[in-house]
Amino acid sequence: MNLENLLSIENLINFSYFATAILFIRGLKLMSSPVTARKGIIWAGVGMGIATVVTFAHPQISSNYGLMLLAITIGSVLAWWSGKRVAMTDMPQMIALYNGMGGGAAAAIAAVELVREYTGAGLTHGGVVAQVLAVLGALIGTIAFSGSLIAFAKLQGWMRKVYRFPGQQVVNLLLFAGLLFLGYKLAFTHFGGMDLYLFFGLALLIGVLMTVPIGGADMPVVISLYNALTGLAVGFEGFVLQNPAMMIAGIVVGAAGTLLTQLMAKAMNRPLTNVLFAGFGTGDDGGGGEGPEGSMKSIEAGDAAITMAYAEKVVIVPGYGMAVAQAQHKIWELTQLLKDRGVKVAFAIHPVAGRMPGHMNVLLAEAGVPYDLIYDLEDINSQFPNTDVSLVIGANDVVNPAAREDKSSPIYGMPILDVDHSHNVIVVKRGQGTGFSGIQNHLFFADNTRMLYGDGQEVAQKLVAAIKSL
Ligand code: NAP
Repeated sequence: MNLENLLSIENLINFSYFATAILFIRGLKLMSSPVTARKGIIWAGVGMGIATVVTFAHPQISSNYGLMLLAITIGSVLAWWSGKRVAMTDMPQMIALYNGMGGGAAAAIAAVELVREYTGAGLTHGGVVAQVLAVLGALIGTIAFSGSLIAFAKLQGWMRKVYRFPGQQVVNLLLFAGLLFLGYKLAFTHFGGMDLYLFFGLALLIGVLMTVPIGGADMPVVISLYNALTGLAVGFEGFVLQNPAMMIAGIVVGAAGTLLTQLMAKAMNRPLTNVLFAGFGTGDDGGGGEGPEGSMKSIEAGDAAITMAYAEKVVIVPGYGMAVAQAQHKIWELTQLLKDRGVKVAFAIHPVAGRMPGHMNVLLAEAGVPYDLIYDLEDINSQFPNTDVSLVIGANDVVNPAAREDKSSPIYGMPILDVDHSHNVIVVKRGQGTGFSGIQNHLFFADNTRMLYGDGQEVAQKLVAAIKSL
């Protein structure tokens, strides 16, 4: 190969796509730790930028530059605007929306390719394998698109109900069989225009039907699953277009999404089938097990502050309620005050505390809590018996001893933070509200537990003020 060939536009484009893929992988690697996550986003962003710019020079693209620029401008402005103003607690639905767009884009590419085939022009890079992958990508991408939009609507509070009807799963199964039949026709036969419409219509419907019966609170797991599916669809369409950046990015996203889905399901000790086909988190489960004995004993902020200020060791356990209250900054202020008084303070993070993986880590990082104060479940659990005070702020399920002790509990088997083993437990929450699983928490009734009622941020503020006045 001479230098001219080597520097041909196609080679340069392929080289750029390869560089893009490496940037994506490097970015993803850096995202695995909160310390380097920001850098990871930038690396992956640069990769995406290169892939986008290079595509303008692609020999297969010779028109529609104006439309491409318009789409990029609209997308960038909307993403910038929504990314800037989204609250941390609304992050799961934003991911659902972006995810849906990815699935939709993959499905749209497949649709264009299949229309080419229908009109006789043939796929851009023909062949049976490409056609099968185009159909598979269309199927998966379309389901991920409509499913993610329903997930978004549920998390955004636009759609509160869980829709179920008798025989729903049989209906879904029959529709899916119909979809597979149509997919077969598109992949292996001379199909008609109506087949195309029916195929995409049915795939959209199945995405909706699969998602509407799932409880809104289970959505983060479902979103992660759709994320994996979107990655797969993009990877397939990358093959169809012979675009290495799409192939690698799709496969990486598909693999990462699958791992994340598995991790979340495992940390909740629930098989994925249970998330997809059972009504957990919808209030349908009942309490699970007997109601706790005894009563909840409350404490005032002033007394709680004294208990912590004179303790040797305090462990803070944040949960979903801290995110709702946006109490992380006040909690960090409280931590500093306690540390100034010589109290040893640590943060205990449960892998599924909050509503998305890493939720608590992100909040604590945002407040400036140093990473060396933050411990994972397996590292901190042995420390609870030597802890004077565990301050549970807005956490519920992740500290529920029923997961350890009550075989009839829906969360039985889920690893929990053993705060009940510490000498004293102070629980900050607004009232008698249950957590994500909708079940009672025996911890709140224990002899060594005191309930400190109120909004997380207000209570943290009161604790700060009380400690300052000591
Ligand atoms: P949780 O069990 O959902 O409990 C949160 C508690 O926070 C509630 O009991 C609520 O009680 C309290 N709260 C709400 N707003 C508050 C406020 N403004 N101030 C103070 N307290 C407030 O939370 P968790 O212990 O973090 O457990 C997470 C749950 O989500 C687990 O069951 C997990 O399986 C599930 N989940 C997690 C993920 C993930 O990736 N992290 C994904 C899917 C599902 P009050 O109403 O009485 O205040």
